[in-house]
Formats: sequence, C-alpha cells, structure tokens
Amino acid sequence: MTIRRVLASFLLLCLTASPIMAKLQVVTTTEDLAALAREVGGDRIDVVSIAKGYQDPHFVEAKPSYLLRLKKADLFIQVGLELEVGWAPSLLTSARNERILPGNAGFLDASEGCDILQKASGGVDRSMGDVHPLGNPHFWLDPGNGLAIARSIARKLTEFEPDHAQSYQDNLARFESRLAEKEKEWAALVSPIKGMKVVTYHNSWPNFAKHFGLDVVDFIEPKPGIPASPAHVRSLVAKIKAEKVSVLLVEPYFDPKLPEKIARETGAKLVVFTPSVGGRGEIKTYFDLFDAGLKLLTDSLQGGR
Ligand SMILES: [Zn+2]
Repeated sequence: MTIRRVLASFLLLCLTASPIMAKLQVVTTTEDLAALAREVGGDRIDVVSIAKGYQDPHFVEAKPSYLLRLKKADLFIQVGLELEVGWAPSLLTSARNERILPGNAGFLDASEGCDILQKASGGVDRSMGDVHPLGNPHFWLDPGNGLAIARSIARKLTEFEPDHAQSYQDNLARFESRLAEKEKEWAALVSPIKGMKVVTYHNSWPNFAKHFGLDVVDFIEPKPGIPASPAHVRSLVAKIKAEKVSVLLVEPYFDPKLPEKIARETGAKLVVFTPSVGGRGEIKTYFDLFDAGLKLLTDSLQGGR
C-alpha cells in the first residue's frame, strides 16, 4: 500500500468515525442524576455532576471549572423543586449557553413525571421550611422515581440522537429489568425493618420511607433548613423515648455533635446514612445507593435498641 493510500484511508476513517465518536456532553446537578444518565446513555455520553454525593445538595459552592463544562454542554439535568435554587440558576446564567436554559431543548428537570410528596396545598407555603417549598425534592430515593427519571433521560437523549434511539431504549430496558430484580432482593432485605421508627436529621427520606416501609417520626431540624433550638431538642428527646424510636438517620454532611448527644440521651442508634451516589466511595451506581443504605439499616438492628 502506498503512503498516499494509507493517508487516504486514515482520512476516510477519521471522517466516518468522528460523528460516532462525538459524545453528548451532559452536566447534572447531582451524582444521582449522573448515575442514572450513565445507565441510559452508556458510552454515548460524557456526564459530570456539579455537586458531589457527600455535599448537602441544597448548598453547593460550585467550582469555576464547572462553568467550562456548562458552556459546552448539550444537556443540563437538575433535580428541581428548588433543591438547587441557591446555586444552579446563577451558574446557568454565568455559563451563557442558551441551549441548556430552562425551556430550551438542552434543559431537563428530573422531577417531571415523578411521585412528589409533601406538595404544599394551595400554592407555595414557606411554613413547610426554608428549602422545600414546592414539595419534597429528595424524591430520587424512591426507586420508582429513579425509573421515571431514567425514562425522561432516555427520551431526551433520543431527541438529540434519533438515529441511536434503539441503543437508548436497550439501555433503559436493561436498567428497568435490573431494577426489578433488585426490588425483589430489597423487599426481602427490608422485611425485618418494616415499620421501624426513625428520626432523621433533615427531611430527606419521605420517598425512601414510603417505598421501604419506615416510619419517620420526626426530624432533628424542626423544619427543613432550620437549626434545632434547645426546646425542640428537649421535646424530641422525650418523643424518641416515648415512641421507642430505634434509629437516628443523619446525612453525612451535618455536624454529628447534636445527633450524638440525642443518641446518648435516648439510646437510639446513630446511623450516618448517605442519600446520594458518591456519598461514600463505594457507592458508585444507583443500585449501590440502596444496597448500602438498606444494609446499614438492617445492620442497625443487630444487638437491638
Ligand atoms: Zn431538603
């Protein structure tokens, strides 16, 4: 083969390969959404999350490097219901990428189509707390909502790449059947903790509790985003004792001092429980999140209250 023919075939390869190689650029606000996007997008997308799983998703200081990712993003996915209202809108404005602004093709709000709990009746009601005025934004903790989010992402990716609709459908179907298998496994695992009484730090768990049958009795924060007063702590301690609450679930980004004190005073077990993929190094997929969380809860039963 002459050098010219080698060069010609190399050029031809580059020309035909480049449209296949160009991956959709996806930026998500949280690692849970990134994990779900990976399930559906596979190796056809490049995805990065702005918040890390060990950060409080309500309050994130985004690194400037994310602006560069947002500038070239094809698709931006947020949790919505004002979870990220303190930081995502200003990032989107600064990124100056028209395509990913709300209402445009490259913007996806993951809450659409999900089962949303604690919606304020009669409009926005700030008395429900500072940070959950539109309903509870921690809805990804119900695997049924995980599936709804995966479907929305598949629909969106297919809009971008109709030629690859089959690939996204196949990935979605694989995710759905794996989820159905895991649901059976999880249902068996949670039978000993059905009805378990828990107090959580933040109101992060209503969807999780509804799905897996936990009873969330109260919160260490009197309202989402509001720190506990001494009077609230006193009444909470009395309630935990009276109702024989087994476990305090505390998200890893809160100071453990107060939960530790409450645990000492009441005998309830303190369980640091991450609500997000990436909250601990080994939690890399959406399935890992439930595997790890449910194991922690069942382990907490060992030795009794
Ligand atoms: Zn919250």
